[in-house]
Amino acid sequence: MNTTSLELNKIYDLAYNVLKKHGCDDFNAESVATTVTHAERDGSVSHGLFRIPGYVASLKSKKVNGVSRPSNTFLTQNAIRVEGDYGFAPVAIKVGLPDLIQTTNNHGVGVLTITNTHHFAALWHETETLAENNLIGIACTAYKPSVAPAGAKKPLFGTNPISFAWPRKNNTPVVYDMATSTMAMGEVQVAARDGHKVPYGTGLNKEGEKTDDPSQIANGGVLLTFGDYKGSAIAMMIELLAAGLVGDLFSFEAKEEDNNDGGPARGGEFIMALSPELIAGKNWNEHAESFFEQMTSLEGVRLPGARRHNNRKNKGPREINTSLIEKINSLI
Ligand code: NDP
Repeated sequence: MNTTSLELNKIYDLAYNVLKKHGCDDFNAESVATTVTHAERDGSVSHGLFRIPGYVASLKSKKVNGVSRPSNTFLTQNAIRVEGDYGFAPVAIKVGLPDLIQTTNNHGVGVLTITNTHHFAALWHETETLAENNLIGIACTAYKPSVAPAGAKKPLFGTNPISFAWPRKNNTPVVYDMATSTMAMGEVQVAARDGHKVPYGTGLNKEGEKTDDPSQIANGGVLLTFGDYKGSAIAMMIELLAAGLVGDLFSFEAKEEDNNDGGPARGGEFIMALSPELIAGKNWNEHAESFFEQMTSLEGVRLPGARRHNNRKNKGPREINTSLIEKINSLI
């Protein structure tokens, strides 16, 4: 794969300019370009510039509103609904999180239900923001079906990611963010593009047989959940929280509605915040630190999120797939 070095500000400009060119206003383009740049900065490459052609396709087809103005409604004192105005999810998240942080600081627990948005990004952006504000963050979203429930050969679940972030007073938060499929479809697509194999059992081909060929999984095949029926139960929970509770589309409904333009389908997101200060009490940080000390003292263990936070220390350029840059430039 040929790569080109791009400074982070150039990555931002590339994303921002192409989004503006296709109808985003400043507020929408800034929100998405920031999310994309942070993904490249942290080495979340399947959710960085790689997603731009899809974002553009959904603006071109008018599926997504590039001038969205999401708004918050308090359903109860600590449950907030964000009406996403059919824009990209990073915009609705930016509008929703400040109220979620405030209400969680007041009541100990807060829930944000995001509706009518198009989610194409990693979830650590939102959970980590909560943790940076000394709150625990949990987020999940459903997507169009590409994953078979345990026992099935046909998709019903999305890759349904879930993220959890734990705040640390003098350190970067502990954050996991993972698809409930064996791999995220973005990673499978990147592997197919770069000609790499994926672990055998990642998914089934269109005949329903296990394969290690990512292009057979991405084109007419199906992914499996991690951990067999256990991952399947978590993927089901995510459908119920992000669609059933939020009141937005289940994965199968998102598929029925989507125009298949290659951009993100419409759907919802469930975000929950908890205040350790109010719930556990003053000593919460020291107590959790003693646990992390135990954990990291075991040989071979590293905390989730550490890889990204380490990547973040590098302020230099990032190596970006050259043909991807050419493709994005051709859209400007
Ligand atoms: P990975 O399998 O790469 O990583 C999952 C988590 O495990 C990360 O938090 C990672 O931390 C952590 N981790 C990995 N290796 C170790 C290790 N050895 N020890 C401890 N922790 C470890 O992620 P996925 O491929 O499952 O998902 C990638 C992204 O795709 C996610 O950000 C997800 O939100 C996104 N996604 C978005 C969708 C959407 O619709 N918007 C749909 C599906 C996925 P670290 O980052 O530090 O490596």
